[in-house]
Amino acid sequence: MKIVVLPGDGIGPETMAVAVEALEEASRRFGLGLQLEHDVAGHASLQRHGATVTPALLEKVRAADGLMLGSMATYDFKDESKGEINPSKFFRKSLDLYANIRPARTYCGMPARLGEFDLVVVRENTEGFYADRNVESGGSEMLITPDVVVSLRRITRQCCERIARTAFELAMTRKKHVTIVHKANVLKIGDGMFIDICRQVGREFPEVRVDDVIVDAMMAHVVRAPERYDVVVTTNMFGDILSDLTAELSGSLGLGGSLNAGRDHAMGQAAHGSAPDIAGQDIANPASQLLSAAMLLNWYGQRKGGRNFLEAAAAIEQAIAAAIAAGQCTRDVGGSLGTRAAGQAVLDRLRAA
Ligand code: ATP
Repeated sequence: MKIVVLPGDGIGPETMAVAVEALEEASRRFGLGLQLEHDVAGHASLQRHGATVTPALLEKVRAADGLMLGSMATYDFKDESKGEINPSKFFRKSLDLYANIRPARTYCGMPARLGEFDLVVVRENTEGFYADRNVESGGSEMLITPDVVVSLRRITRQCCERIARTAFELAMTRKKHVTIVHKANVLKIGDGMFIDICRQVGREFPEVRVDDVIVDAMMAHVVRAPERYDVVVTTNMFGDILSDLTAELSGSLGLGGSLNAGRDHAMGQAAHGSAPDIAGQDIANPASQLLSAAMLLNWYGQRKGGRNFLEAAAAIEQAIAAAIAAGQCTRDVGGSLGTRAAGQAVLDRLRAA
């Protein structure tokens, strides 16, 4: 399996260094034969190549089996004509990574603020209310007059269908429950279609229980009783917001692993951003990028029928859980270790797996 590794900005290089060590250890331990190709994106690429991402990099990623993308300083990249392209969007759109899978669960050994839970947000990743990816060229945010802005939201039958299928297939491997999150009381046509298509796809999965919740009510429900949920499927922006909430409810945004998956490609990238407030201080939690690495191995193992990849993914997840249970973790999740030491605690367990 060939994986392109792009460390990213802010805390990205620190957390990616840990994830790379874990991938190398998993490769040795489980005979994965991983080939890691290191390159740059974001500020490092802007300095070196005059653009945050380049066509040559895209070709390299297309030719590989997977991508590990570090956290990106998305907010810094405002003007595409100056090479400031949002790398996360660039890969999601160019590789059609339509499903953003964001699990959130509590861990033994950590104070569970709301009791135990284990859910996954399945977020549509290629359209919706995202001005930078829902039109072929240009943006879908327009300055009509200096005082008036119009932003477009795009919802298509095809994207609803495929994200719904991802959610139901995932639910079949879990507790067989899908919750559709929407705002169909206001966005009657777009989210009305989203619900209809999700329910239509759901009929192919009669074992799966389906319900739907309006997104604002969901914010209250998920704080009140997160254990009620299994797979939550939703459109792009609602999924972005909801998944930051569920990651934080699980203990910290630093536990937010995430996979961006399409038909032929996948990208592991932590759910959070580049966290400039804690960058370069050896305090960021590497678990999010480690979990994203495990999800990438799992995705590949499922496609290729590679049991050793599935075992390696499970071993990384178990090593993270065991390190947290032993209190060998970063401060955001109740420990006292730095990024490197917390990563080492996971690596030691992976080595012994
Ligand atoms: P974006 O707008 O790019 O999605 P975001 O909204 O996720 O970014 P971040 O800056 O990534 O914003 O995260 C918000 C806060 O969460 C940070 O200020 C930081 O305190 C905390 N945080 C994020 N990632 C981690 C991490 N890996 N470890 C510890 N704390 C983190």
